[in-house]
Amino acid sequence: MDRRKFLAAGATLAAVPLAAPSVARAQTSFSWKMTNAYGPGSPFYVEGPGSPTDFCKKVEAMSDGRLKIQHFAAGELIPALEGFDAVRSGAVEMNAANSYFWAGKIPAAQYFTTVPFGLNFQGMNAWLYHGGGMELWDELYAPLGLKALPMGNTGVQMTGWFRKPIESVADFKDLKMRIPGLAGKVYAKLGVDVKLLPGGEIFPALERGVIDAAEFVGPYQDRRLGLQNAAKYYYTTGWHEPSNVTELLMNQQAWDSLPADLQAIVSTAAMACNLESHTWCEANNAAALKDLVENSGVIANVLPDEVVMELRRVTEEVLAEGAAADPATQKIHDAFMAFRAQHRDWAAVSEKPYHNLPA
Ligand code: CA
Repeated sequence: MDRRKFLAAGATLAAVPLAAPSVARAQTSFSWKMTNAYGPGSPFYVEGPGSPTDFCKKVEAMSDGRLKIQHFAAGELIPALEGFDAVRSGAVEMNAANSYFWAGKIPAAQYFTTVPFGLNFQGMNAWLYHGGGMELWDELYAPLGLKALPMGNTGVQMTGWFRKPIESVADFKDLKMRIPGLAGKVYAKLGVDVKLLPGGEIFPALERGVIDAAEFVGPYQDRRLGLQNAAKYYYTTGWHEPSNVTELLMNQQAWDSLPADLQAIVSTAAMACNLESHTWCEANNAAALKDLVENSGVIANVLPDEVVMELRRVTEEVLAEGAAADPATQKIHDAFMAFRAQHRDWAAVSEKPYHNLPA
């Protein structure tokens, strides 16, 4: 090439900016909002290791700031239970809650929080991650434009707080009790007047006698609400919630807009929080229960066998009725129960005899 022509061409190239690519460049950084069904400061549900705010921090750190999530506790942006609609409409990209809060809209969603006499932490995660549970959750939510992931788990909860001891099934008659989910339906069949109250309203209602009994979570969380100052009988295993999954709910379009590496970061951070939140509960509950019994006069006990047997019988009835009324519930119920039977067989020769080894 002629030297002058070459220089001229070079000058032209330098002066004219490169043409924009014909395809728009993919978005590389994201600024999202997450709402939460629980109020400001709640340990496990909002703050602390493996909590939703911790999830937001983990994602921001792992993505080097490419995915920033601003967190809003209940009431800070929208009321406690409006996260489902906010995520569906795209007003926010994410919400932290429990899927059983959406029972009125999608009854089958309850199976992804907890089922009375269902699966414990190990069993629930085995089902979700390796037993087909996640695929069923995706199938249930996809038509609604939603995508969910498990992001936390309390482990086995406590039956709850009662102002009077429970000695027989007859003691449930006309008892006013705070209890959400499928277990509320079971208690209702036994004559309980079921109340749905958010966490923050449980203590004043129990103290004033507006309710006679309440379940919340476990010793650490319940003590923080002061429930030991309103009732003394604390029944200590969660037949009603053998584990309880925190749901990370996402707008499907928003999820699909994330590049693969950010999707991997979100999934991995959710899985890390699932483990970390649960182990945090495990580490703190024993000391809290000891303190409640030794320093607050709490009487901790298990329900009488005949009461548990009746609760189990009525649970089977409630689950069968719910499944018969809704094809989506039936499909998920059948899959859940098949997995539960298999997990129970394994637990019967592994965890259960281990816990029962002679001291
Ligand atoms: Ca609970």
